[in-house]
Amino acid sequence: MSERERLIFATGNAHKMTEIRAILGDRYDVVSMKEAGISADIVEDGKTFEANALIKARAVSKLAGCMAMADDSGLEVDYLGGMPGIYSARFLGEDTSYDIKNRVIIDMLQKAAPSERTARFVCAIACAWPDGREEVVRGVMEGEIAKEPAGPNGFGYDPIFFLPDKGMTSAELSPDAKNAISHRGNALRLMRERLAEKERV
Ligand code: IMP
Repeated sequence: MSERERLIFATGNAHKMTEIRAILGDRYDVVSMKEAGISADIVEDGKTFEANALIKARAVSKLAGCMAMADDSGLEVDYLGGMPGIYSARFLGEDTSYDIKNRVIIDMLQKAAPSERTARFVCAIACAWPDGREEVVRGVMEGEIAKEPAGPNGFGYDPIFFLPDKGMTSAELSPDAKNAISHRGNALRLMRERLAEKERV
């Protein structure tokens, strides 16, 4: 068997590393920026999830001289015109707790009809190579904004993200059940297919 190619995933988040290793680890030697000894203060000033993921992947690939991957994700609430979107982490300030952020979103939807509560988690994953090649994919998970927060799992906006098919929020799913349907899981699986196609040509 040929040696696995090194792939740096541009994140400091240990949960994301576990998830990406589970999906791409058999093909690639996935290492975090810290494990690769790289640190970079990358300004994410793109206007879309895809643009931000590409900015990070390109920067890290250039620095490290090898294949690099990065993601950018967030919550789009239709009633709020897609907000918080790419500003999900910064919504109401980076240091504001998610208890507060989630309560504010629920309050903003007080007058929304049931059919107007639709929302989605979006994740763009970009891959960049030092020679300038790049790939970008998008994964989504569709749902609704709950009337009340529920569930101890997950993070961020999970307690208010209701999945009608499951009858519970994404914070009530086990980590494995969430990965099987999540925006990030879907984007990673799509990227895995895209990379396999590239290897075949
Ligand atoms: P990032 O892509 O790690 O920068 O994530 C941006 C922000 O989107 C996070 O800080 C969360 O607010 C939100 N977010 C992204 N994915 C999820 C998720 O799976 N559950 C809850 N919140 C999420």
